[in-house]
Order: sequence, then structure tokens, then C-alpha cells
Amino acid sequence: MSTAATDEVIDLCRDLIRIDTTNTGDHATSAGERAAAEYVATSLSEVGLHPQVVESRPGRANVITRIPGRDSSRGALLVHGHLDVVPFDASEWSVHPLSGEIRPDGTSGDCIWGRGAVDMKDFDAMSLAVVRDWQRTGYVPPRDIVLCYTADEEAGSEFGATFLVEKHPELLEGCTEAVGEVGGFSYTVSNDLRLYLVQTAEKGIDWLRVHATGRPGHGSFVHDDNAVTALAEAVARVGRHRFPVVVTPTVRAFLAEISDALQIELDPDDPEAAIAKLGPIATIIGATIRNTANPTRLAAGYKDNVIPSRASATIDCRTLPGQFDLFREQLVEVLGPDLEIESIHRQNALETTFDGALVDAMALALRAEDPGARAVPYMLSGGTDAKSFARLGIRCFGFAPLRLPAELNFSALFHGIDERVPVEGLQFGVRVLDRFLRQS
Ligand SMILES: [Zn+2]
Repeated sequence: MSTAATDEVIDLCRDLIRIDTTNTGDHATSAGERAAAEYVATSLSEVGLHPQVVESRPGRANVITRIPGRDSSRGALLVHGHLDVVPFDASEWSVHPLSGEIRPDGTSGDCIWGRGAVDMKDFDAMSLAVVRDWQRTGYVPPRDIVLCYTADEEAGSEFGATFLVEKHPELLEGCTEAVGEVGGFSYTVSNDLRLYLVQTAEKGIDWLRVHATGRPGHGSFVHDDNAVTALAEAVARVGRHRFPVVVTPTVRAFLAEISDALQIELDPDDPEAAIAKLGPIATIIGATIRNTANPTRLAAGYKDNVIPSRASATIDCRTLPGQFDLFREQLVEVLGPDLEIESIHRQNALETTFDGALVDAMALALRAEDPGARAVPYMLSGGTDAKSFARLGIRCFGFAPLRLPAELNFSALFHGIDERVPVEGLQFGVRVLDRFLRQS
């Protein structure tokens, strides 16, 4: 590839960061996605592609385009990234979160700073830089590539990926495999060995509202059937409960790789002690060995001296692949029989195997740019647009390659203060993505 892409990715990433695409979950304050979509569409049409901007509602814009490959009879590869970002409080940051400023951070060399730097305007910029270079040099990929830039990932994908899947599946026709977030980043074991975590699984989402009911009454009376008390007891039980460890095939494979790389003894059926030794990524991996249920909201009452008849709590549950029904049974046991459970949002877990030609292409591309690279599968505890795309039968991977300095606490940057991406890592990502897509 020419150096045009590795130069250009810097400006593309900074430009995208400077377009405020904060997604608050409220349409009125999430308008910047349209401007970002137009920027992306212009970047693609400038080099001869024909992107479509598709809105799910005014302002909630997605961009999609297809690059014909040499063999269009093969299934297409979907390369996707979201354009929205989570909110920020600028007063907490060292630089303004919309500045896209380049400055060193003390350990990682020059970085591009700003909201979206790693989640995920970095990868949006990388894919744009690669295909713009291809178009300028006349390169044709081995199979069709569908590029997709979405709205609304940060608030559940309803107006982005889910909208495209439900209302415009024709734009994704023929896609058999996909790459997007969150994976492909390095975890340094030693100078000669870096594990690159490729996402092959995602926990499911099961947001629940639970309701306790009781006898309403005056706050001054003796009262033994108080909905607030019943709810509080149940919520406390759930919040303190640890569901049993379940090691899925992806996590088992990851733990085997980690134990080999770090030379630590690891009992795959009792992995907690070993995970605790992993440093910053322990927070990512630790959540992938069990189902979780975290109370997040409470609502009850309307006056200080009135006992309400009803009290409600929201519980954010995350389930491992294949565990949904069993988890619900376990949850009811912890909550007790008297609470009503209402499902408010559910998305299934994903899991695919770490094998095949596409996985080989990832590993080869990484090793060509980093001789100390070893690609390993892992499970993400959160959710991405992949949950929506997988509904079309697309096999989804998290592969947005980034080589990171050992000292950088990468997972803390996601939705974090002073989000930033090392410039060298970003340019590494462009080279790996280019090689990977050429071999895909
Ligand atoms: Zn993201």
C-alpha cells in the first residue's frame, strides 16, 4: 500500500472526532450523526464510490456502500463501524473532547485525543483510509466488501444497525462475514509476544424491570406489606449475588492461550484467580465467566408520608451464550416468587468459532506487521452492532487492529475521560487492515 493511507488516517480520525456525534439516547440531542454521515459519504464519493445515506429518522443517518470484488459470487465481507459516541463532561478532560488534538500522553508517544478516539472513530477512519487508497490506485479486492457506518450504537442500535437489518436488508445482501469492534487490539506479554484479542463472542443483553407490590397506606402507621421494603430486599439480594462460573468454548480457548503465554497454571473450571493477575483487561475478561445482574435504577413513591402500592427497579443482566433460560430461572430464585418481571430490552449472545480462512487472514496480517503477534479469541462482556448484523446470519468478529503500548490502560479509555488513540497504533491498524482485507 502507499503511505497515503497511513498519512490520511490521522486527518480522517481528527475530522470525525471534531464532528460532535454525542448519542444521549434522545433524538433531540443526537443530531450530529447526520453531519458525520455526510462527511463519510463525501470521503467515499470523492474517490468514485456511490454511498447511500439512509436515515431511520431525521438526523439519525447511516452510510453504506459496496465495493465490487474480483469474485462477486463469493459472500461479501461487511466492514462496519458506528459514528456516534457517548456523552462527555469537557471539564474533566485534559483537552477538549471534540478537539482531535495531537499531543503525547507521557507513555504512548503522540496520540489523537477526543471522544470516539478508540470507540470507534479510529476504525471508521482506518477503513476510509484503506478504501480511499484502493480507489485511487485502482485496487480491486478479492470479494465484495460492504462498508457500513452506523448511527445509534451507543444507545442500543435501534436507529442504526437494527434499522438497516429490519428495513434495508437488501443493502446487506450476500454478506456472510463481518468485522467491526471490539477486538484486534494488543495485550503485551513481553517484548517478543503480544496477544491480539479478536472478538469471537459477545454476551447477551437482558434489561429487566422488576416490580414489587404491597398495600398502600399512611407513612405513620405500623405496616407489614410495604412494596418499597420488598423491592429493596430483592434488589440487594440480586446486587450481591454471584452467579455460577460457566466457561464457554471462547473463554476456555482464551484462558488456554493466556496460561500458555504467561506461563501460569490455570484451572479452566476455576479461572478467577488467574484472571485477577491479568491487570487492566481483567475487568473485560472477568465479566465473561458468568452471567451478571446489576441493579441500575430505582423508582417508587410520590410523597414522603405515603406508602406506595408499587416499587420498581431496573436490572441490567448480561448472559453468556446459551445461558438465557437457565439464567432467568436462577434470577427468579434470587428475586423471590412475589416480584413481577418485565422484559424491556433483549438481545441474544453471540459466539462463533476461531477458525477458517478469515481468521487465518487476521493472524497473518497481524504477524506481517508485528512479528511478536499472536491472535487469540475472546468474548466481549458488552454489546455491539454485531448483535443486529448477526440476525441476518452474518458471522461477526471484532477486529479493529491496534498495536498498543504496554503501559496504556486500553479498556479504561472506552467511554472514559481523556480517550485517545496512539498515532503509531492507528497507522499500524491501517497497514494490518489493508493486508487483511486484501487476503480476505
Ligand atoms: Zn463502540
